Amino acid sequence: MDISRRTFMGGASGLALQVNGAVSLADGWWNQVHRGAFHNLNEYDPQVLDVNAWMDYWASLQPNFFVVSCAGLMAFYPTRLPNHRRSQFLGDRDVFGEYFSAAKSRGMRVIARVETNWAHQDALAARPEWFERDEQGNALSQAECPWIYHTCMYSNYYTEQVPAMMREVSSLYDVDAFFTNSWPDAGRPRRCYCANCREAPRSGVQVYQRHESRILEICRLLQATAGEKRRDRIYAVHIGSGIHSSLSLNKLAEVAPMLIADHQGRSDNTPIWDCAQQGRAAKAVMGARPVALGAGTNGGAWRHTAKSPAELTSWLAQAAASGMAPRYTWLGSTPNDERWRTTGREFFPWLARHEKHFTNRRTVSNIGVVFSQRTNTVYRAPGAVPGGYGTRRSNAPVPAGDPSEFLQGLYYALLEGRFVFDFVHEENIAADQVSTYSALLLPNVALLSEAQCRQLREYVGRGGSLLATFETGLYNEHGEVRSELGLADVFGVRIAGKAPAREDAYFYSWIERPHELLRGFENTKWLPGGEHRVRVTPVSQPILTIAPPYPRGIPETVYAQGRAEAPYAGPRSDEPAVSLSQRGRSRVVYFPGDIDRSAWRSGNNDFSLLLQNAVRWVTRNESPVKVSGEGMAEVFAWETEPGYAVHVLNYNNPNMTRGSIRKHNPIGVQQVRMEIPAGVRISRVELLRAGRDAPYRQSGRTVNFNIPGVVDYEVAALYRA
Ligand SMILES: [Zn+2]
Repeated sequence: MDISRRTFMGGASGLALQVNGAVSLADGWWNQVHRGAFHNLNEYDPQVLDVNAWMDYWASLQPNFFVVSCAGLMAFYPTRLPNHRRSQFLGDRDVFGEYFSAAKSRGMRVIARVETNWAHQDALAARPEWFERDEQGNALSQAECPWIYHTCMYSNYYTEQVPAMMREVSSLYDVDAFFTNSWPDAGRPRRCYCANCREAPRSGVQVYQRHESRILEICRLLQATAGEKRRDRIYAVHIGSGIHSSLSLNKLAEVAPMLIADHQGRSDNTPIWDCAQQGRAAKAVMGARPVALGAGTNGGAWRHTAKSPAELTSWLAQAAASGMAPRYTWLGSTPNDERWRTTGREFFPWLARHEKHFTNRRTVSNIGVVFSQRTNTVYRAPGAVPGGYGTRRSNAPVPAGDPSEFLQGLYYALLEGRFVFDFVHEENIAADQVSTYSALLLPNVALLSEAQCRQLREYVGRGGSLLATFETGLYNEHGEVRSELGLADVFGVRIAGKAPAREDAYFYSWIERPHELLRGFENTKWLPGGEHRVRVTPVSQPILTIAPPYPRGIPETVYAQGRAEAPYAGPRSDEPAVSLSQRGRSRVVYFPGDIDRSAWRSGNNDFSLLLQNAVRWVTRNESPVKVSGEGMAEVFAWETEPGYAVHVLNYNNPNMTRGSIRKHNPIGVQQVRMEIPAGVRISRVELLRAGRDAPYRQSGRTVNFNIPGVVDYEVAALYRA
């Protein structure tokens, strides 16, 4: 594959879109942002904040954009706007203005933060129509601060008051951008019964459609408002929630010159790669356009303590590796814990020193993972199958599960297999948007429109390969079930029985004959199959067939035979556990089971190996970049201004799937093999974290070198001669 002809994937990346004629999204100062800092202020800060001392710290990070609290819930400048309350501790200060001047004098772009979700009770008294209401008509106050109420985005608060704040701020300070904290919200649409919402739909796809169209309407309005007096003053749109976001990132990208992912950290059992994954999701829609990543330096809910330095460094490294501009954040101005400062000072100047290697032109990857947000809205993913030793019989349906587990399981397998891949947004699978990928992977992309099915069918017709699982294409874009899988012809199977023909029960799969997909399984006759599956018709020469489910809980009952109390057709069937097909260059793998979800939920390594083998088969084991070595790592590869950059993030850690990382466990030598375009000569390979060059060999289009070891993160920069 000729990577010199690759183009950046995603959304509006190549287009000079105009938003209400105000600003061209493709070109502007925002394309040069690489590092950011954000001082999040509390109401009391005007009493104690030393702007100059703080700016000395922020400047030591060498940020090229600076975000600071400005307006909304409270103003940190002497506002004269009605119903826009000043911080009760502002006195005669203008802390926003002081910060604006300090940042500008140091050459930073300034982004004014506006808190729009909440407003005070005096605003409620004056403008009751701005606020959310419950079914009884009560305004909804905040749990900890009952004097603060939630605004409703369907009210004129968003269309009149927020623009009025932006206009006042712009008239006083020549800010470069605005940012609305935590809005738009990518989670489930909120329930509101205000005058504007009383008649709103309460269920189904219409809930999401109303939510999305209002958000896009407001984003366009705020974008136009920002650019009224200065064409390159922009509204930077908030995103977050990683792969769980139900708000189309692709549509947001169409109205946003720049996205700010407020994805500050992880808790519970979130895997470490959560930040890199957010980066992949954002870059799938923004391409070369900028995405900032708001990194939280704080220890979770204990917001005035510092996060583990190793965890925070990994987070910053993931942002940089995935192509985002990390933004360093602290809340409040009199910290009792200063440890977080060191982590920033160690990472950001290093990033600044090597800025050119983080100026990505395009991705270097031959695998596209189709990222579906629709499954996060109306699709009802199956949850845990009731059963096992202690369970009583019940007629309750299988509970709803987490739709993101399919992608998460595939992701984990891709990392274990060290594959280099991109996310491809489900709305961006037209021929010219996927032409550089030799394979597309569809982890239960359950909702596909007729047009999308046609695009995927044509992709296969052009020689592209597919890997798909479970209910991919079984529903249309509205979530209505089809009588057949939308890509049944491509997968080479039909539904057995009546759609959706889902059986919710643990099953096994028999190994019928040797195949590349089954490498590493030579010493077993069967494999774990999954927890849910779509029953499909037989295929010729199957390699894996289903062993029909049987009890799994009480040991005496766990056998694959009939018994007096229950008939059982026998442990063998002709129902396939995988369907394979080949047409010319194209290879298609379809697993009717929830192999990816089961891989994630169970952690069973057989699922992961089977998925890795399947990815190798559909890609013919060809990859522009291979990084081999011990340890768990995530790999990114980009074409950059000087040449190429191969990023290796070390996740080899007991806290990989449960934070926080306490310390890094270095991994040893990593062998890198990279295919570059014909005619390109490499003149140098520099290891940016280690701070030294690596010896390399180039033979034709292939470049080989070793990374001797990786502590937290390494970037191998390949210079074009
Ligand atoms: Zn409302």
